[in-house]
Amino acid sequence: MQYISTRGQAPALNFEEVLLTGLASDGGLYVPATLPRFSRDEIAAMAGMDYPQLAQRIIEPFVGDCIPREDLREIIADTYAVFRHGAVAPLVQIGHNQWVLELFHGPTLAFKDFALQLLGRLLDYVLERRHQKVVIMGATSGDTGSAAIEGCKRCKNIDIFILHPHDRVSEVQRRQMTTVVGDNIHNIAVQGNFDDCQAMVKASFGDRGFLPEDRHLVAVNSINWARIMAQIVYYFYAAVALGGPARPVAFSVPTGNFGDIFAGYLAHQMGLPVAQLIIATNRNDVLHRVMTTATYGRQSLEHTLSPSMDITVSSNFERLLFDLYDRDGDAVAAMMRDFDRGDIHFSDTAMQRARALFSSYRVPDEETCAQIAAVWQESEYLLDPHSAIGVKAALASGIGDGIPVVTLATAHPAKFPQAIQRAVVGCEPPLPLHLSDLFDRTERFEVLPCDLAAVQAFMANNLGA
Ligand SMILES: *Cc1c(COP(=O)(O)O)cnc(C)c1O
Repeated sequence: MQYISTRGQAPALNFEEVLLTGLASDGGLYVPATLPRFSRDEIAAMAGMDYPQLAQRIIEPFVGDCIPREDLREIIADTYAVFRHGAVAPLVQIGHNQWVLELFHGPTLAFKDFALQLLGRLLDYVLERRHQKVVIMGATSGDTGSAAIEGCKRCKNIDIFILHPHDRVSEVQRRQMTTVVGDNIHNIAVQGNFDDCQAMVKASFGDRGFLPEDRHLVAVNSINWARIMAQIVYYFYAAVALGGPARPVAFSVPTGNFGDIFAGYLAHQMGLPVAQLIIATNRNDVLHRVMTTATYGRQSLEHTLSPSMDITVSSNFERLLFDLYDRDGDAVAAMMRDFDRGDIHFSDTAMQRARALFSSYRVPDEETCAQIAAVWQESEYLLDPHSAIGVKAALASGIGDGIPVVTLATAHPAKFPQAIQRAVVGCEPPLPLHLSDLFDRTERFEVLPCDLAAVQAFMANNLGA
């Protein structure tokens, strides 16, 4: 399997190379040159598979001959064994034709574990084979940092440095990062804000000279192809459980960077009957504006009760654009250059294609709280604020009666206690048992000034892998 850049200029790579590469050298994102396709019979045959078996079936063609089959099987089995539910991604019915796919049974209680648990293991496997060690650097305002750290904690060939803004992430989120023990795990609390952290990461990727020559810098943000790949699996899993391929299914996806929902689009392109993909956003509605006005433009950031979707630019959207414009890398490159200068507008053809599969809905905080309360009163089922946005959008979508709608539940409600208490007075969702002592665990992090040289010196002096 070969991977090509959405901007058409960077060299094609194989799976192993794409795993170790973030952004393509032309500024684009890597996508498969051709997608594997499954026939209806092949999809029907997925019905009896458990989650790891299905993951193997979906992932194998993307990996190609880069990893022997038996080794891949072990990596996948190991990855999903750490999830605390026998089904890995259980489906829960919350109403007539309304379902929730619980993606929060991983170690950090958010769906990012599905991809980052696998990514850490895949990276460590190929690094071992190449006799190479790498440094992962990232900035986080919440979920990504802890999921990346948990994903790398047993990796012998990876040092991971995660920057968070000092005193500006929630205590649960901070503790999920800083209580993970390992010589290769480094939490840095920067005396600045999230943008400062992100700027330092960007600057470090631009000039990697502060690290020893043999230590490559790797990004694990949501543009990494392997993350998207891992997320395709649960679309097949849910659809087949609900009667696919005979019965089409719709999905409602709480969306920020368009990674998770893009995986749903790929599942559809690979042959899975998907009736509709609903883009569910909070007030940071860049994607809802694309769908309703054919215009992609920046707006200022709004802080909401669903912080993991608080973004102004949706980086993975470029991957969809590439397809909407017939995989014309020059056209995408030109559009992204224009986007650096201002709003961009999409053609009627592109929008027709997008609207044939996608719809969108925007949910402000009041409606998010009302939705949490409504489902709680009806079924005593507690949605986290991100998932509630998905359910609200699913109910508003007006999809026909015969089609089940699956909302992806992207986080456990205990991660967002303030939002839950605002929605359901007096309700304090407990952390699951495996995290119940989170507030008693010892934290380990380094507070550093908002100074690039200080951060880089700390990194160079603390390589432990
Ligand atoms: C990251 C995240 C999202 C958004 O996912 P994208 O792939 O960026 O669209 C939604 N909900 C939660 C809880 C998240 O952590």
